[in-house]
Amino acid sequence: GRLADGVTRGIEGVGQSVSEQFFDPTLRLGVTGLSRAGKTVFITSLIANLIDRGRMPQLAAAADGRILTAFLQPQPDDTVPRFDFEAHNAALTATDPHWPDSTRAVSQLRLSLRLRSGGLLGGITGPRTLHLDIVDYPGEWLLDLGLLSKSYAQWSADALDRMATRPGGAEAKGAIAAVDGTAKLDEGVAQSLAQGFTSYLIQARAAGFSDCTPGRFILPGEMAGSPVLTFAPLPPGPSPRGSLRAEFARRFDAYKAKVVQPFFRDHFARLDRQIVLVDALGAIHDGPRAVEDLRRTLADTLTAFRPGANSWLGRLLGARRVDRILFAATKADHLHHIQHARLTGFMEALVKDARARADFAGAKTSAMSIAALRATTEETRMHDGRELDLVRGRLLEDGRQAAFYPGDLPQDPSVLLSPARDWAESWLDEDYQIMRFAPARLHLRSGEGPPHIRLDRAAQFLIGDRL
Ligand code: GDP
Repeated sequence: GRLADGVTRGIEGVGQSVSEQFFDPTLRLGVTGLSRAGKTVFITSLIANLIDRGRMPQLAAAADGRILTAFLQPQPDDTVPRFDFEAHNAALTATDPHWPDSTRAVSQLRLSLRLRSGGLLGGITGPRTLHLDIVDYPGEWLLDLGLLSKSYAQWSADALDRMATRPGGAEAKGAIAAVDGTAKLDEGVAQSLAQGFTSYLIQARAAGFSDCTPGRFILPGEMAGSPVLTFAPLPPGPSPRGSLRAEFARRFDAYKAKVVQPFFRDHFARLDRQIVLVDALGAIHDGPRAVEDLRRTLADTLTAFRPGANSWLGRLLGARRVDRILFAATKADHLHHIQHARLTGFMEALVKDARARADFAGAKTSAMSIAALRATTEETRMHDGRELDLVRGRLLEDGRQAAFYPGDLPQDPSVLLSPARDWAESWLDEDYQIMRFAPARLHLRSGEGPPHIRLDRAAQFLIGDRL
């Protein structure tokens, strides 16, 4: 009403009135992806660019000058850790810049945007506020959703199956085969099995496998060492009371009830928009098995956003659903822009495939290739009589500047989604392996956010309609 308006205007510039806090709309943006996918860098650069607005031409509201200010606020959830924007931004913008610490657990930050309305309304109404709550959480935790529908015996069978073909699996499997599941629980044995299983998961992850559940084994957050994380799969067999197998089954159920469900209830269920960051270049470099695993993982991810109405998550979500999901290949600055369309094509093919597999209908999805923080420049050089399109950057090890050719992506992305035997060549197998760039030294003028590739287009898709 008029009175409320007057009150609000009166304190403009000082802060926000309580009424405003209550009535201003909030948009909750989830940022996820497996570890090292680029979540921390993405959020840091997005916030820095929204606050400074100098480098966001594809974000319509920024281009039109409708974002009057963007500022950080204390986030509304008292018990959720705050995303440490200041520390991460300081790392990226230091005189000797370095990459920030990666996401280990869920965290959150509120960015409030003061907006001038567009179109006809813009002249009549005063500025409005939109709170953008950004929620950072590990993709590993999202994949745990698949555990809810499984019993300990079913999960064990699947997990042992996978171990047979994955790096580090044979050793962990050997240790598991050597124990007697019906023997009385010995905590020392339980711990050593859990440790062996965890180190296998970490190795499989490092080798490029995406689905390495239970997610908390790799990223335990504050639960490291607790009994809910001290179990491992066991082959089928009897489970008398007090036996190792009975106790592992109990801990598996506790993991589902006390770790997985609360995460979905407290964090996931409240999201409006979602970006899923994918290290697609890394998976392609790791080869056909890693890509196959990635495609299955993306389908699983989509299932989480549109669960069946009768599933546990479906009932929890009710009518509330994420209505836009962006799948973004990160670190596109490892490629000369001439190859970006191929990377985007690959992401589009992956998402299309995932949609088909997940029988997905509903939210608007899109695929892009981005670099949240551009660490390279481009150049073209003659090499063995042909032109090579290179990227140049500062190497992480010794700070030297060097130019690299990562190798090719196929023109036709469907090649990458075909079975391993049809991968006639290996892609990205030239310099990609050694391309570990440090963030570039930035000389930002005031009002200029860090350099990026298509971060503004990503923002337009995710929040543009609400600005
Ligand atoms: P998180 O585990 O998902 O939070 O991943 P981070 O955001 O910490 O990113 C992991 C690593 O990927 C960083 O330390 C960088 O080495 C690299 N990285 C992330 N984003 C970019 C980018 O836009 N460009 C380049 N060149 N490297 C990136």
